[in-house]
This record gives sequence, C-alpha cells and structure tokens, in this order.
Amino acid sequence: MTHFSLDDSSVFVVIGSGAGGGVLGNELAQKGHKVVCLEAGRRLEMSDIVNDEAAMFGKLTWLDRRMATGKPDPNFPVWGCKTVGGTTMHWTGACPRFEPHEMRARTTYGALPDTTLVDWPVTPEEIAPWYDKAEVRLGVTGRQGMPFLPPGNNFKVLEAGARKCGYTDIDTHNMAINSIERDDRPSCHQLGFCTSGCAVGAKWSTLYTEIPKAEETGRFELRPECMVTGIELGPDGRVSGVTYLHQGKRVTQKARAVAVAGNVVETTRLLLNNSSDRHPQGLANSSGLVGRNYMRHFTIQVMGVMPGKVHFHRQTHLAGVVRDERGHRPERGFAGGFLISTVPFTPEILAKNMITGGWGRDLTEVLDKYDQLAGMLLTGEDPPQLSNRITLHPTERDGYGLPVPVIHYEDHPNTIAMKEYAWKAGRRIYEALGAENVIEMGDYIPATHNMGTARMGDDPRASVCSPFGRTHDVANLYIADGSLFPTAGGCNPTLTIVALALRQAQHIDREVAAGRL
Ligand SMILES: Cc1cc2nc3c(=O)[nH]c(=O)nc-3n(C[C@H](O)[C@H](O)[C@H](O)COP(=O)(O)OP(=O)(O)OC[C@H]3O[C@@H](n4cnc5c(N)ncnc54)[C@H](O)[C@@H]3O)c2cc1C
Ligand code: SF4
Repeated sequence: MTHFSLDDSSVFVVIGSGAGGGVLGNELAQKGHKVVCLEAGRRLEMSDIVNDEAAMFGKLTWLDRRMATGKPDPNFPVWGCKTVGGTTMHWTGACPRFEPHEMRARTTYGALPDTTLVDWPVTPEEIAPWYDKAEVRLGVTGRQGMPFLPPGNNFKVLEAGARKCGYTDIDTHNMAINSIERDDRPSCHQLGFCTSGCAVGAKWSTLYTEIPKAEETGRFELRPECMVTGIELGPDGRVSGVTYLHQGKRVTQKARAVAVAGNVVETTRLLLNNSSDRHPQGLANSSGLVGRNYMRHFTIQVMGVMPGKVHFHRQTHLAGVVRDERGHRPERGFAGGFLISTVPFTPEILAKNMITGGWGRDLTEVLDKYDQLAGMLLTGEDPPQLSNRITLHPTERDGYGLPVPVIHYEDHPNTIAMKEYAWKAGRRIYEALGAENVIEMGDYIPATHNMGTARMGDDPRASVCSPFGRTHDVANLYIADGSLFPTAGGCNPTLTIVALALRQAQHIDREVAAGRL
C-alpha cells in the first residue's frame, strides 16, 4: 500500500473519488504523478453491495444536512453518494455525448431572457477525441465496438410505442454497463438493481475500476473517511495543501496542486467556505459566480398501465432511449431538447410519488397492476440562471461544524414549456399501444445531475475556471466535476465529466513538463 508523507509537497491532491476525481486521480497516476485522493465516505467491499435498494440507499447516499428554497425538496434537494466511488455507485450508467448545438447554446438558442446562456469554451471538435477515450475507458455500449445491451421488456414497449408515433432514433442506449465480459468484469445480469451499486460489477463504478487500477501504479493513495474542510494558500497565493477531518482529528496534507471533484454542492461549499483576506467572497470567486448558474435538468416520468405484463423492473434501468426530441426545434415552443429513456420504480416509490395526493382506489388500482407497468424518464435541458444558486447558511451547521449548503432552484419558463411538451409526448407513446391508463408523474426526484456553479470560460470576469478547469484566481487549483459546465445540454452529464477529467489530466501533465506546476 502506497503511503505519502503529510509533508510531501510534490503530491497532487484530488478531493472526491467519484466520476471526476476517480478518473482524474487514476489518469495522473498512470502518467507518473503522485496522487493522494481524499474521500469523505468509507470504502465498501464487493460483498457489502447487495440487491436491496433501501439497504444500499443507507450505505451509499450523502445524508449530511442540506437545505433548499424554491422548487426542490427542502430537506433532500440533491441525491448523491458519500462513499468511495462517489455517485458512480448509485448511477445508472447512461452515457450520451453532448450534441454540438448544446455546446453552442447561446449561438443556437439566442438570448433567452433571464438566463446566462453561453457557448462552451471547448468546441465539439475539441472534445470529440476525449469522448472517444472516455467511451473506451467506461466500455460504453454501442460505441467503440462495444455491443449494445439486449432489449428488456420495458424497452420493447417504449420502442414499439415510439415507432408508432413516428420516432426512429431508438436503441438500448449508450451505457457504461458491460454487454459482454470486459475489463475483468462480467456482463450485465439484467436484474435491475442498478442504483444499488451493482453487486456483480457489470456497471462501471470507480470503486472497482479506476481506484484499484490507480493503486496498482504504486503512485496513488486513497484516504477514505477524510472530509476536506480547508484549502490552504501559501504567501505566493498558490495552494500549498489541504486540511481534512479524519476520525475527529484535523490533518493537513501538503500539495503541489489540488483538484476538487466533490460533486457541485460540496465543491461549491468548499470554495465558498474558504474565504480569506485575499479571497473575501470565497476561494477563486473574484467573479462572484461561484455557486451561481446551478443547473440540474428536469427529470419527469410517465407510467403506462399496459394491456399485458411488462415486468419493467427486470431490466437494466436506463437501457432504452428515444433521441428524436433531443434537437433544437423552436417550433415546439422552447429552446433545446430532451431524452426519453426507460425507467422502473419499486412499488414503495410509486406508492409515494406516482399520484400526487393519491389515496384509496385510484392508487391501489394502479399498484395492483405493477406487473403491467411500463415507465419512462424524460430528461431535459435547463438554462443557466444567476438566481439559481448554492449559498452557505449563515448560522446552521452540519455534523462537521461546517455551514449547511442552501440550494435555491426555480424552473425557467423554457423548462416549464419543455416539460409540458415532454409529458404529452410520453403519454402519446403508451396511448399508441392501447395503454389502460397513463400517469404523468411530477418532477419529484432530487437532483441527480448537478452542474454549473464554477463555469468554464475564457474571461475571468464571466467565469470561474479556464477551459481546462483551472481556477482563474489560483494557478494550481482545479475543478474536476460538473461545476465546470457552462450549460447543461439535454443529456446525462457523466460521460462529459469523464472526458473533461481525461483532458484535464493531459493539461496538468503538460504544465508539469513545462515547469509551470
Ligand atoms: C440515482 C442516480 C442515477 C444516475 N444516473 C446517471 C446516468 O445514468 N448517467 C449519468 O451521466 N449520470 C447519472 N447520475 C449522475 C452521476 O452519478 C454524476 O454525474 C457523477 O457521479 C458526478 O461525478 P462527480 O465526480 O462530480 O461526483 P461524485 O461521483 O458524486 O463524487 C464526489 C465524491 O466526492 C466526495 N466528497 C465530496 N466533498 C468532499 C470533501 N469535502 N472531502 C472529501 N470528499 C468529498 C463524495 O463523498 C463523493 O464520493 C446519476 C446519479 C444518481 C444519484
Ligand atoms: S441490471 Fe446489470 S448493471 Fe444493473 S445491477 Fe444488475 S448487473 Fe448491474
């Protein structure tokens, strides 16, 4: 086991071991750099992962106190993980790329009122080879020669209905889930416990891919149960190390450079909570934009009670997609687009959320037909707004004694218009197959896709980070998660987080070679 000294100022410190941090840490170690990865959660063994959603929610989920105002659940606004592997333990593995129009949102959509729409400082052409590398790394199905996953029943229903409605761009999705044995991991068993952590390891998670591979290099030390609270600056204004809490003790690790990949809420909290005379608004926040432009996608659902049995829970959750509504077609009454994917839910979740205020026969009649249910998730782009932001509560503290993050989010009128259209589009698909009943479910899921609070850009007055994710204000401080996204696109974000992390690792490697880091 590699162990680096706390005084070793030649190590790169990566905060968080999820999609961004796990990939960046491994890539830096593979390139010959020394890495200390600090992770707030504990490290599970494969034998700790069981096919039980409730049990795994307790083992994996970030449950430290958070607050919200506006649309989200005031007590549980964001769903992520606190464990080695981060939210790649809970995630369902859908890996679409951003489309070119989404990376040029300002040019394509025009000036949407009350938004801060911009074009990405990274072009679609520039990111394309990094997407290729990320897809190989994750073993994404339907890309780079990896076969698609086989169709489950929920997908077959979605596909049949969608084709009747005239949709054509349909398949079992680009998934970071093995369709064949690969990377010393088995192919998917199609049992449908994807959010429980995947007991067999068919789904890509950094816990059993990036982290052990990084450790094999002998240049990577993972320190679980280490909650970073401080980023220390030297007299030259550069980061000199980090402070973290481990088993009640405060520890300081020196560092050559630091990358924060705590998944938006925690990344933002760390920056805002590290204010100083030099950084009075929070670290790297001379633009005043840290915490602003928070985006989360909408995720609404439509359930169909179909004429026959579907058993929608018996398949890989998101292995089914209709892409035809993804494009930008303003004649629909909104800018941007959305994806239609398969999704199952447990009876408990449906009982609680399927029919708002549902009670009595209306609810039990649908639940009685659980085996006949088909389900879809509609995920759409939300534009960045300055007023959607993460701040620190002035007085409330969590168990670490840190200010509780407060998440404020409201739907933009563009999002409301897209949702209304999406519900109708989803309903049509099941009605085309003669569904007995179609239920439009609300946007009740806590945010799973978090983006935007430390956006990339070329102008330090209008962005927090450079196009390589280096903060404009502190030369050896990087961000390596969805906080970097200038806009949200209409698709799941993780493949893009991984592509940017791989690109950032190459940038860091070159900076070291040039003597600048
Ligand atoms: C149920 C669910 C399904 C999802 N499905 C998909 C999907 O199909 N496709 C997709 O693209 N995305 C999906 N996502 C989102 C995806 O999981 C995230 O986009 C991705 O994991 C984010 O990567 P990250 O590195 O930013 O954060 P994470 O993966 O959450 O990792 C952050 C890590 O940092 C640690 N950390 C935070 N703060 C500190 C600190 N101060 N000190 C030390 N450690 C810290 C956390 O404990 C955590 O382990 C899903 C999410 C959920 C919840
Ligand atoms: S369905 Fe596949 S990816 Fe999901 S938990 Fe089972 S084996 Fe893992």
